Amino acid sequence: SEWTPFNAAIQAFSQHQWQAGPIVNGVTLDGEQHAITAPYNRSESVGQVAFSSASQVAQAIDVASEAYPEWSQVAASERGECLQRLADLLELHTGELVALCHREAGKTIQDSIDEIREAVDFCRFYGEQASSELASAKSIKSFDGSTKQLSYQGRGVFACISPWNFPLAIFLGQVSAALAAGNTVVAKPAEQTSLIAYRAIELMLEAGVPAGAIQLLPGTGAEVGATLTTDVRIAGVAFTGSTETAQRINRSLVARDCEAVPFIAETGGQNAMIVDSTALPEQVVRDVVRSAFASAGQRCSALRVLFVQADIADRIITLIKGAMAELSVGRPELHSTDVGPVIDIAAKEKLLKHIESLKNQSKLVAQAQLNDECKLGDFVAPTAFEISSIDILKNENFGPILHIVRFKANEIDQVVDQINQTGFGLTLGVHSRNERTYCRIEQRARVGNCYINRDQVGAVVGVQPFGGQGLSGTGPKAGGPHYLYRFTKDVLSA
Ligand code: NAD
Repeated sequence: SEWTPFNAAIQAFSQHQWQAGPIVNGVTLDGEQHAITAPYNRSESVGQVAFSSASQVAQAIDVASEAYPEWSQVAASERGECLQRLADLLELHTGELVALCHREAGKTIQDSIDEIREAVDFCRFYGEQASSELASAKSIKSFDGSTKQLSYQGRGVFACISPWNFPLAIFLGQVSAALAAGNTVVAKPAEQTSLIAYRAIELMLEAGVPAGAIQLLPGTGAEVGATLTTDVRIAGVAFTGSTETAQRINRSLVARDCEAVPFIAETGGQNAMIVDSTALPEQVVRDVVRSAFASAGQRCSALRVLFVQADIADRIITLIKGAMAELSVGRPELHSTDVGPVIDIAAKEKLLKHIESLKNQSKLVAQAQLNDECKLGDFVAPTAFEISSIDILKNENFGPILHIVRFKANEIDQVVDQINQTGFGLTLGVHSRNERTYCRIEQRARVGNCYINRDQVGAVVGVQPFGGQGLSGTGPKAGGPHYLYRFTKDVLSA
C-alpha cells in the first residue's frame, strides 16, 4: 500500500505473466521452456522463456548475415531515426518495463526507473551519433595534397552478450550501438533476464528496425553464448559481464581460424575508495553506504574496499555501523526499501560463502537485519568487515559486502599501488579536501572512472562515459564519443 512513483503500473502488472523465446527474422520460435520467478519471492511466477536450440542459433546467424548488406546500406541517419523511435516506445511503455524489471531482476522501483531512463539515453545517444557523425564522409587531406573521403561502415554480424544487472540498459546500449554503426545483430541476454530483453526487441521491431537486422537468442552462456563466439561468421563481439567469462570468450576468439575480430569487453572490478583524514565523515559515510549497498551491491561500479586513514577510521566505522542499522532490506517495490534481493540462489550462496570465510579471518563490523519476508527470496544482508589487506580478496564479490582497510597517513602511495596490483581498473572513489592528495591519487591510479568527493555511481550516458582498463575492460567507454567507432570499419575513397 506504500506509494511509489509507478504504483499504478506495479499494480497493473503484479500478476502479469510474460512469455519469451528466440526471435529469428521477426518470428518468435518455440523451444525448451524455463520458468522465471521473482528474486524477492521464489513462489511468484513472472513468466516463461524458451531457450534457443543450436539449430536456431545457426538460423539466426544465417538471417543476420543475409540481412547485413541491405542494413549496412540504409542511411546512417535513418538507422539513427529507428533508434529514436525505439526510445519513444520505451518511454511510452515505461510503466510495464519498470514493473518487469522489478519483478524479473528484483530491482527497487527507483533502480528500475533509472534502468529504463538509461536505456532510453543509450538509444538516443547512439541514434544521434549515427545521424550526426556517421551520416556523411569526412574529407581528409593527405600528405601529397590530395583529398580523400573517410567514411564509417558496419563490420557484419555483431554478437552482443549482456549481463543481468542492467538487463535493459546494457542490453540495449550494446545492441543500439551495433545497429547504429550499420551492423546486424545477434543478441544473447543473460539467462536470468530474458523477458525484459524480449520485450525490448519486440519494441525495436515495432520501431522499424528490419526483422533481419536484429535476432534475439535467449539461452545459457555455455550453450548459446559459446556457440556464437566460435562461429566464424561473427564479425565482432560486444560483451559485458564477468572478467572470467571475458577471458573465456577472448580465448575462443583467438582460437578461431579467421581474421581477428574486435572484442569490446566491459567486465568486473575490485573497486576501492580512499578516505584521508581531511574528508568530511558524514559525506563519506553517505557515499560509502550508497556505493556499496545500493542495488544490493550488484553494480559493476560498486564500492568493495574502503581504505580509511587510521586517524579517522574509528569515527567512520562508527558512522557506517549506524547507517547500516538504518538500512531497510526487503521487498523492492516498497518505497521504504533501500536494498532488494540478489539475482539468484547461486549468487546468494557464493556471497554467503564469502561472508562465512571472512568471519574466520576478519572482524565483522556490521550486518544489516533481514526481515521474515526475506526468507521468501534470495536476500543477502549488507555486511561490512574490517580486513587486514586487499590482497586477501582474490575475486570480485558481486553483492552487498564492504571490506574496510586502515592505512597510515604516509601510506597513500602504497594504497594506490595495492589497488593497481589487483589488476582490475574500473572505479575508484576518493574523499579528501586536500587537492594535492586527490590529484596525486587520480594520476597514479589505473582505473577507468575516478570519483572525487562523491559516490561511485556508474555511467551517465553522454555525460560520464563509463568503462575500465586492465582486467576491467578493453574500452572505449560506453556512452562516450568513441564507443560507436569500435563497431565500424573505416573506408577511404578518392
Ligand atoms: P557473466 O560473465 O556470468 O555473464 C555475462 C553474459 O555472458 C551472460 O549473458 C552469460 O550467459 C554469458 N556467458 C557466460 N558464459 C559464456 C561463454 N562461455 N561464452 C559466451 N557467453 C557467455 O556475468 P553476469 O553475472 O551476468 O554479470 C555480472 C558481471 O558483469 C560482474 O562481474 C560485473 O562487474 C560485470 N559488469 C560489468 C560492467 C562494466 O561496465 N564493466 C557492467 C555491468 C556488469
